Amino acid sequence: MSAAHSVLKEVFGYEAFRGPQEAIALHVIGGGDALVLMPTGGGKSLCYQVPAIVRQQQGRGVAIVVSPLIALMHDQVGALHEAGVDAAFLNSSLSYDEAQDVELRLQTGAITLLYAAPERLNTPRFLGLLDDLYAQGKLSLFAIDEAHCVSQWGHDFRPEYRALTVLHERYPGVPRIALTATADALTREDIVERLQLQEARLFISSFDRPNIRYRIEEKKDVTTQLLRFIEREHAGEAGVVYCQSRKRVDELAATLASAGINALPYHAGLDGAVRKKHQDRFLREEGIVMVATIAFGMGIDKPDVRFVAHVDMPKNIEGYYQETGRAGRDGLPADAWMAYGLQDVVNQRRMIDESPAGAEFKAALRGKLDALLALAEATDCRRVRLLAYFDEASEPCDNCDNCLNPPAVWDATDAARKLLSTIYRVQQASHIGFGAGHLMDVLRGKATEKVAQFGHEKLSTFGLGADLSEQQLRGVLRQLVATGAVGLEKVHLDNGHSFETLALTDASRSVLRGEVPVRLRETVAAAPGERKRRRSPAGTLPPAAASLDQAAQVRFINLKAWRAEVAREHGLPAYVIFHDATLAAIAERCPATLADLQGISGMGAKKLEAYGGEVLRVCGSAS
Ligand code: ADP
Ligand code: ZN
Repeated sequence: MSAAHSVLKEVFGYEAFRGPQEAIALHVIGGGDALVLMPTGGGKSLCYQVPAIVRQQQGRGVAIVVSPLIALMHDQVGALHEAGVDAAFLNSSLSYDEAQDVELRLQTGAITLLYAAPERLNTPRFLGLLDDLYAQGKLSLFAIDEAHCVSQWGHDFRPEYRALTVLHERYPGVPRIALTATADALTREDIVERLQLQEARLFISSFDRPNIRYRIEEKKDVTTQLLRFIEREHAGEAGVVYCQSRKRVDELAATLASAGINALPYHAGLDGAVRKKHQDRFLREEGIVMVATIAFGMGIDKPDVRFVAHVDMPKNIEGYYQETGRAGRDGLPADAWMAYGLQDVVNQRRMIDESPAGAEFKAALRGKLDALLALAEATDCRRVRLLAYFDEASEPCDNCDNCLNPPAVWDATDAARKLLSTIYRVQQASHIGFGAGHLMDVLRGKATEKVAQFGHEKLSTFGLGADLSEQQLRGVLRQLVATGAVGLEKVHLDNGHSFETLALTDASRSVLRGEVPVRLRETVAAAPGERKRRRSPAGTLPPAAASLDQAAQVRFINLKAWRAEVAREHGLPAYVIFHDATLAAIAERCPATLADLQGISGMGAKKLEAYGGEVLRVCGSAS
């Protein structure tokens, strides 16, 4: 057995490496640099933790882990302690004495992994420490987590990351491993350049997350839709609901809470202490739903998030994929659910138009938005499209809404042409733009006041679409806007209000001529592929325990109660002690001796020693 493999088994209690983990570990242990692209939940941590432990065993000293997430370092280090690894962190949350203590342990070689914030790395004091270690040959490796933070193309640019260039120049020969879940080619090139990783080996994993079920539905009354989704499919389970604005976060969190859901708000406008408290509760308690802006999520490694919902559309597929990727890190079934409508398209287009960015940058943003819109409008496999975006070919997945419940599609080409010519004729007749509501009224032949005011009942397209429902027309319009065949122009009124009018674009022509078919899904079927809730003697059971028999379920529930107590005592989230899947495996095995616990995934040597006796006692008392 290789040293890497025995660390995996002994320390972490895992049987086998996942995907490219082993190749990465061996490469870094051998002294090579690496750039690792792996989806969220893919298992990036082990890619540097295993090499750090192995190189420490070889007498090469300490690994420095650069991570932007000060608020999470405590838990990350706590998780390593639970596994029996000497780890520590240095950041601004430590007192002077605490920091000094860590520095001392660092100098005496008592630390295997040191987590540090990037701004710390750039201080003369810290660099002095590293210089000493380097001179003694006791600097084993640098791991740069969330490496996309170095790039302004990534979505979490941190200027402090730019200082990491110094590592290569100052400490040649120390292997460096940079890790990120952001796949975009532009960002990747930027990372390589900024961190001088030209010689590094590139490891790109499959970006597929097969346990996540993707669903995108038409937005009607999104609050009701969301409530129904959570209550029917995820009652009592942890999840994240993403919104665009802080205001929306506050409102929605309050609405969910009043509906009896354990929901908390999170956004950058909240006081730092409140944010920390909400994040801690999300990590430590069970079944919390975090309603959040994108300020929430990076580095959150809670494995049992059962759903990620989007009530507003994100900016691009990278964002969507990162956010949805926070569901189901434990590999068990999880949902990515999004409601999407015309207003999302309008809002996103407007944000780009009104941003101060240069023309080239805006064009890039538009291209990215278009790709997401195409995904939202798609009637074929969502996963095939998502993976194709990351240059990965795949087959229809059988685990997305379109695969599970192929939508009926109607040919809306004719309806689209009618809508476009209505826009044209109205514009011709009145020389001003009109909003969607009026245009649909004209097309459907409704004799409203406005129609009479402008004499639009005389237009040749008036009433031409009387056979179409408003819903159908909205669908047509949304797709035309999504594909750019209808443009939006903002009209500012004297009273300070403004509204959006519809206009023809260059792309309208081919649709008008009938050259571009418009195919739309029929009105959305009710909640495709709904999962049944799992009931147990004590309420809803997580998917890990769903298949256990009655007696094992009782053991599982007792183990969970015991785990909660330990976690509280240690000031750590429960999953850091044991994952649900590990508890389920213990409950199923019904162990009588310590030997029975060996080989259970997640049961490393240290945990067996620390908790084995207790686990046996809990299982015994349950049977
Ligand atoms: P990432 O940082 O890539 O999002 P993590 O490193 O947090 O992912 O890993 C995701 C989950 O998968 C963690 O709960 C981790 O314990 C688990 N995991 C990672 N590698 C393995 C493995 N080889 N065997 C079993 N579980 C693993
Ligand atoms: Zn599919």
